[in-house]
Amino acid sequence: FTPDVIRNFSIIAHIDHGKSTLADRLLELTGTIKKKESGKNEQVLDKLKVERERGITGKAQTASMVHVANGKPHLLNLIDTPGHVDFAWEVSRSLAACQGALLLVDASQGVQAQSISVFHVAQERGLTIIPVLNKIDLPAAQPELIASQMTATFGINPEDILAISAKTGKGVEAVLQAIIDRIPAPQCKDDAPVKAFLFDSLYDRYRGVISLVNIQDGILRKGDKIASCHTRKKEEATDILCPGQVGYIACNMKESSEAHIGDTLHRVGEPVPPMPGFKPSKAMVYAGIFPIDTSDFPKLEESIKRLTLTDRSVTVTRESSSALGQGCRLGFLGTLHMDVFRQRLEDEYDANIIITAPTVPYKLVYKDGKEKFISNPTDFPDFNESSIRVTEVQEPVVKASIIVPEEYFGDMMELCYSRRAEELDHRYLSSGPDASSSRIILTCVIPLSEIVTDFFDQLKGRSSGFASFDYEDAGYQKSDLRKMVFLLNGKPVDALALIVHRSAQDTVGKSWVKKLHKVIPRQLFEVPIQAVIGKQVISRETLPANRADVTAGLYGGHYERKLKHLNNQKEGKKRLKRIGTVDLPQEAFFDILKR
Ligand code: GDP
Ligand code: MG
Repeated sequence: FTPDVIRNFSIIAHIDHGKSTLADRLLELTGTIKKKESGKNEQVLDKLKVERERGITGKAQTASMVHVANGKPHLLNLIDTPGHVDFAWEVSRSLAACQGALLLVDASQGVQAQSISVFHVAQERGLTIIPVLNKIDLPAAQPELIASQMTATFGINPEDILAISAKTGKGVEAVLQAIIDRIPAPQCKDDAPVKAFLFDSLYDRYRGVISLVNIQDGILRKGDKIASCHTRKKEEATDILCPGQVGYIACNMKESSEAHIGDTLHRVGEPVPPMPGFKPSKAMVYAGIFPIDTSDFPKLEESIKRLTLTDRSVTVTRESSSALGQGCRLGFLGTLHMDVFRQRLEDEYDANIIITAPTVPYKLVYKDGKEKFISNPTDFPDFNESSIRVTEVQEPVVKASIIVPEEYFGDMMELCYSRRAEELDHRYLSSGPDASSSRIILTCVIPLSEIVTDFFDQLKGRSSGFASFDYEDAGYQKSDLRKMVFLLNGKPVDALALIVHRSAQDTVGKSWVKKLHKVIPRQLFEVPIQAVIGKQVISRETLPANRADVTAGLYGGHYERKLKHLNNQKEGKKRLKRIGTVDLPQEAFFDILKR
């Protein structure tokens, strides 16, 4: 295939608007995969089980198909992009290997928050955008209204919009034709030195690390020795790839960290100037993962290591807690990413784990101008020390956009205000001349910590599911934050420390102390439970003493029974964690951390 018959494209859409379904139809229509007899289709591109269950794709996948049009076979490379806000950075990375994108909008739901954000990324990258109205088979579809909404929102020509049903296949042929007619062929020279852009990597149990590359120039031949501009490592190519093509190179790299995303590869002895790379993905949500049974730690650590081979955006460090024992502190792109990882650990590695409350990376600014990031609340300084050298605490903030029908606007404002949102701004979402249903786009700057917990659930709950939400990184902002520590009989429980904003300290302190009071069993003595910030007690409850003696109810003579009972009690002790003088059953922790 010469570059002029190659098309590299991607499908971009808000979640559930039909990306995977359309991908399957395109693959079927081109004969790349067999048509399924039953109506139930297993989606080809969503490889991982959990991700399929949740309808998201966290990892980019590529599928190539051949389609004859205008009398010539064309090679179409479909580069899949993840469909969730957590993976915004991956979307932009995948799009870098494309010249065009299909922008899919559900004809019954209309333009949603992510439709807009992915459109902007594609536009910034100079891609040719083919607007596609999907699900026109649905009774609730409003093709004319949504088409005018797309025209107004994206500034596109109404006649450019294709109306299809990815489910029934109606109009999909026209999509293939549009890909060939409208998307430009990649610009590349086949007689130039090999220049390949590494845009993703996968881990395969049998073949090791697989790099996903886009050949910019030159022809890569099987057996060619290739080198990386970044790591200077040399590999041998296993496939023939021509300019403009997108393909996999299975090199014998053992660790995915050896494949640098954004790297430029070239043939050994024929150096090329590296292309502008990418910034590495940033972990924005951290949590501790501990085995329920402390002796399982080596197994857990091994499972985590193996999983991170397939998902390099997860960062791992060891963490030990006096309450939960040895564990790992993991960094994720977002909370959904965290859920996916946790579920994969449980499903694929059968791990029995407890995960601590998620925290975001806070930034400490010192007197001498130095900065430090804190990803574990335990490491946050207490500000009552007179020698404190920290002059400022900053927290990550995001620019959030929420699209919501007008009638829910008030509830959304209230929710945002309660989460410390600032710079609130709103306008009507342009929907053409016959706007029958008015929707508002609300934008604000909001602390990331306020959205990593239950923000999304609240948003959906308060809008009967109608609100859509997206956000982008907006840097760091100075904030009045403190570390809250919980004391049992005067001793801190490290795994429970958390960072709170001053405005929320009383409510947070009170509710956690109440919760602890409820789950901690009575001890032989009175146990004060306190929430403190520095030396200041924010909230306090007292757990009354319990003098029950397990052997008290047994008759003196039944020695054996008494012994058995004592032994049982000993067994029970094993599961107890001792915090100072207080014995805590591990289950109590799980109850607390389960939220
Ligand atoms: P993705 O999240 O964008 O990948 O969306 P999916 O392809 O997983 O589709 C989400 C849901 O919409 C699935 O239940 C699909 O069966 C359904 N769907 C996709 N396209 C159509 C369509 O054209 N018509 C109808 N009625 N349903 C569709
Ligand atoms: Mg999908």
